[in-house]
Amino acid sequence: MKTAQEYMDSLRQMSGEIYFMGEKVENLVDNPHFRPHVNSAAMTYEVACDPEFEDLATATSHLTGKTINRFTHIHQSNLDLVKKVKLLRAIGQRTGTCFQRCVGWDALNATYSVTYEMDEKLGTKYHERFCEYLKHIQENDLMVVGGMTDPKGDRMLSPHQQADPDLFVHVVERREDGIVVRGAKAHQTGAANSHEILIMPTVNMRPEDADYAVCFAVNLETPGIMQIFGRQTNDERKMCEMDQGNRVFGIVGGETLVVFNDVFIPWYRVFMCGETQFSGMLVERFATYHRQNYGGCKCGVTDVLIGACASMAEYNGAARASHIKDKLVEMIHLAETLHTGSLACSYEGSQLPAGNYYPHTTYANVTKQNITRFIYEIGRLAHDLAGGFIGTLPSEKDLAHPVIGPVVDKYFKGVATFPTEHRIRMARLIENMTGGTAMVESMHGAGSPQAQRVMLLRDAKLEQRKGFARKICGIIDDEDQ
Ligand SMILES: Cc1cc2nc3c(=O)[nH]c(=O)nc-3n(C[C@H](O)[C@H](O)[C@H](O)COP(=O)(O)OP(=O)(O)OC[C@H]3O[C@@H](n4cnc5c(N)ncnc54)[C@H](O)[C@@H]3O)c2cc1C
Repeated sequence: MKTAQEYMDSLRQMSGEIYFMGEKVENLVDNPHFRPHVNSAAMTYEVACDPEFEDLATATSHLTGKTINRFTHIHQSNLDLVKKVKLLRAIGQRTGTCFQRCVGWDALNATYSVTYEMDEKLGTKYHERFCEYLKHIQENDLMVVGGMTDPKGDRMLSPHQQADPDLFVHVVERREDGIVVRGAKAHQTGAANSHEILIMPTVNMRPEDADYAVCFAVNLETPGIMQIFGRQTNDERKMCEMDQGNRVFGIVGGETLVVFNDVFIPWYRVFMCGETQFSGMLVERFATYHRQNYGGCKCGVTDVLIGACASMAEYNGAARASHIKDKLVEMIHLAETLHTGSLACSYEGSQLPAGNYYPHTTYANVTKQNITRFIYEIGRLAHDLAGGFIGTLPSEKDLAHPVIGPVVDKYFKGVATFPTEHRIRMARLIENMTGGTAMVESMHGAGSPQAQRVMLLRDAKLEQRKGFARKICGIIDDEDQ
């Protein structure tokens, strides 16, 4: 396993083509726009080397028998699924933001299961190839991006119908030694500071989309790959220590558009190529694994936010007011409801044909659907508790200024015994955790709300439910006899 320091050193040795604000980024690790995301991902390495977290953060590889970082593990039991959720919460409590590495972990588990079933049905050899790739990831403790979301162009058209054929990643050439791919993946969490990307299709496909039904892995330094790093709310604040709120770990994961300009992928890294009938299965597997997570990491992050709001109430002198306590209780209730959803889908998970374990689909979708609502409600309560100054605070430069600093210190004070600086720091943290980019991730990460509702309806067994109702109200028809 890599230490956090070794992870950072490995990034320093990488030479991927990454752009931000119109400029090529040469030293990502020491760049203030990237460093918080690097620190946050590094926590996934740090906890694995911490004896306190050994049980949660490490696992035994079912392929090699060696101890590995759990973020590279294929779940071997329901308990593994539960440990995943608890690990995500524990790291969320330490970073207060996204630590990025779950997406690739979910992609590994989804691809592991689907390649097995593809081989069983079609006689292909993808699973064996994938296991070799997995060993490479586990042995080198690499960070992998889960690359599913294509730019998608016109949402009503399938990949092959798009005016621009590159709006979904596709194969442009098949060679004896591999394939050449073109296109892009959008919103790729942690991609700038990852080693590898595992590409999966983003929609269910028909035979006409065969060139788009492609799953492969590639090192992010490979020629032809280019990344464009997205802006985040208030990202210029990363240049100031106090104003950014979460000075060490930043906001959300740091997402890039990853572009593939005719990139060569050798066959030994290709895990699906044209098998359109399995694209939907891969999308669903990845989505379910990923939706399972949200009552883990987001609860850990919410633990930090609840702590910030409780502290703010003390700084404001309002902590004993009954409505303040009630609002904190409401935040706790919402957070723990989310967590129970993630635990439930893990405990109720089942074994897939490949042998790995899979969360209960409905409960995982319910968890993510709740995230799209509860995180906003938690944010609303946090804004209520914090007070309006989280939206109007002057900068840390004003606080440090020889003339206006004492004025800021005087007029932004709450209870006399708490330093003004503490109140400002806590306000910035609440602002950071409840604004723009952080909230959008709760809505669209792991799929927009409608994507969960489609799966809830599909698995709803409505006919069975209608039968329950008919029986109870005394309607006996042919179906019930
Ligand atoms: C912070 C963040 C991190 C992310 N990280 C990753 C990552 O690491 N890897 C990854 O692969 N993806 C990632 N995503 C992408 C995420 O999965 C997508 O944002 C999500 O699936 C929604 O896709 P979209 O953004 O293209 O929105 P759209 O699909 O355009 O959705 C916008 C609206 O249009 C509706 N809509 C879309 N298509 C249709 C249709 N055909 N019919 C009817 N309604 C439709 C949707 O329901 C929604 O209401 C991330 C997203 C965010 C915001």
